[in-house]
Amino acid sequence: MDGDPGIICYQHCHAKKKIFSFIFHDVCDLCHADISDVELRVPPFRIPYPFKGASHEFNSVVIKPSVGDFLNSYENSSDLHIGVTDTNGCVFEYNYSGKLKSNGKDWKQCIAIKLSSNKSSSFQRYWDEVLNETFEQECWTPQRYDSENYNCYTFVLTFLRRLKMDDLSPFIADKYSFCQHYVSPQARIAAKYISLYRQLKTKSVIIQ
Ligand SMILES: [Zn+2]
Repeated sequence: MDGDPGIICYQHCHAKKKIFSFIFHDVCDLCHADISDVELRVPPFRIPYPFKGASHEFNSVVIKPSVGDFLNSYENSSDLHIGVTDTNGCVFEYNYSGKLKSNGKDWKQCIAIKLSSNKSSSFQRYWDEVLNETFEQECWTPQRYDSENYNCYTFVLTFLRRLKMDDLSPFIADKYSFCQHYVSPQARIAAKYISLYRQLKTKSVIIQ
């Protein structure tokens, strides 16, 4: 996948120790036995890369750090920026400079959240129609932008409310409910991945 650094995990001699690295070695990184031709407790597998390119994620909510990227610059307190993709993977967003629709070139490493499993063409048409209508509203101006009270979340939540999907309604009243239900679970998985990645940039193996 685009941008996936490929973190490998396996277990050999110790049931409670997982070994992580970018490259699978012929020798166990824990006990140093030759493991090129033995059965492992957990055969090497690639840790799922938690980030997506927005242009491949249709009808989704997409999230990335306001500045920099997740893997290299994100910290727990960093601001996150949120947008929505249409059926063609175009990203619609609102920030201090107003509204913006793009092909997702600045969204190559984002968390993508699918809010509905409906893949019918009528649903996709409906999604795009409501998204375009929301985007065309005159309120998304730089003048009205306020980093605390009228921001990228305001745009996304306004769109989601206009979709009038019953199963979303308990979670789109405000940013807090939305983040708690949809963003935090994926952000936690991403944070673990980021931590492994940054440690592996300085040492070749991590044992946990
Ligand atoms: Zn071993």
